[in-house]
Amino acid sequence: MDQEDIQIIRSMPISKSLKPDHLVWHTKSGRYSVKSGYKVAQDMKAEVIVGPNCNVLMAQAWYLPVPPKIKHFFWQIVSASLPVMVRLASRGVHCDTVCKRCEIAEESINHTFFECPRSTQVWERVFDGLHRDKFPLGSIYSNQDFIYGKGLGPMALGVTHSPLPWLVWFIWKDRNNKVFQGLQSEPIDIINQALREQLWWEEAQMAARSVSSVSEPVKIPETTVRCQVDGSWKSTEQNSGLGWWCGDGENQTFFLGARYQHRSVSPLHSEMEALLWAMECILSRGIVCQRFETDSAELISMVQDPEEWPAFSALLDEFQVLSASFPHFTLSKIPRTVNVKADCLAHSSRTNKERIEDLEANVTELREDIQKLNKDMNNRFQILEDSLNRLADTLTTGREGDNSATRSTLRTRDKQQLLAQGDNVNQNAPARTVKLDFPRFKGGDPNAWLSKTK
Ligand SMILES: [Zn+2]
Repeated sequence: MDQEDIQIIRSMPISKSLKPDHLVWHTKSGRYSVKSGYKVAQDMKAEVIVGPNCNVLMAQAWYLPVPPKIKHFFWQIVSASLPVMVRLASRGVHCDTVCKRCEIAEESINHTFFECPRSTQVWERVFDGLHRDKFPLGSIYSNQDFIYGKGLGPMALGVTHSPLPWLVWFIWKDRNNKVFQGLQSEPIDIINQALREQLWWEEAQMAARSVSSVSEPVKIPETTVRCQVDGSWKSTEQNSGLGWWCGDGENQTFFLGARYQHRSVSPLHSEMEALLWAMECILSRGIVCQRFETDSAELISMVQDPEEWPAFSALLDEFQVLSASFPHFTLSKIPRTVNVKADCLAHSSRTNKERIEDLEANVTELREDIQKLNKDMNNRFQILEDSLNRLADTLTTGREGDNSATRSTLRTRDKQQLLAQGDNVNQNAPARTVKLDFPRFKGGDPNAWLSKTK
């Protein structure tokens, strides 16, 4: 059997509810999605692409600081799927391919944005002669690369990013106005519209961020006892780590747990296993805690919608059983930066597996030694007590001369025992009037017994 398969099989969670096995799709959740099917189809094609391609430029479109519709628009430009006249004609649409704005050249994508005189007037105003050797050029890819490369800093007051993507978007709107309505704006109006729209959008983003950061602490009552959980998983390591921390709003620790185990199927599996283990510990120790916290958004959506995560069905069944044992179970999302304690516990138990094993062995050895020592001490104190009791009897009832006789009745072993204790009793013994009253030693803590004699 393949070594890789053995690892996968060993890491699979075993259902405690004896549910029959079933097949799941190899996505994170185990559910089929068109995206994952497409990826498999692409991998199966396994075509080797020779030479440069524009994948990087296409990917970069999704990272622009603009609304999703403009990101998609840039992806269309780079992937040559924007419906300009030349592209429509190449797909069999019967249309006049000449640019409606200048009526000089064919309307290709590069012409529309970077070569049409109506567009170059916009760029000339924006750059005022700067970058003429670099932009705009005859290649759509060079021009896109320039736009992405933040070739221009913020132009309007309050705007934080380059306005170039917004200008390209508003040139497209101007082109559509001309094609569909016969209208055309002045270059300066196109620029002003683009900058205004960018300013509004960026302001709206900042307002949305500040609202969410203000409302967040209100949701979390700081006084309740909570349990934070985390899993630590690395594909190259044999073990995964689980950690949980239970405490109050003042970060006072009540209980915590850390352990390692054979590596689970995925990082998300180890998050789930950490939660289940924490729930089990909290329940079995009777700790009053019903509020659980994780930094994994996927763990929350899994718990809310178990049907969507067939790859976790065995663990989710276990979760159902455990959570039903809590009167008011809650699981909420906290930022990673707040979940440091559970994270540390999980991470250190994964990385310190050998050290933990050594410590566990040492602790067992130490416990055995202490037990042996306790037993030994009990025996010695028992002997000491017997001897002292006998000595006390002799002192209160007997004459001086009898002492030696009584003493001789002490077993040799007792004598040795007394000597071993420092022989203090013999030296203090002559105080005849003192009645020493020792309680019986009944095992347990010898110090407590000794203190009673004072
Ligand atoms: Zn044109």
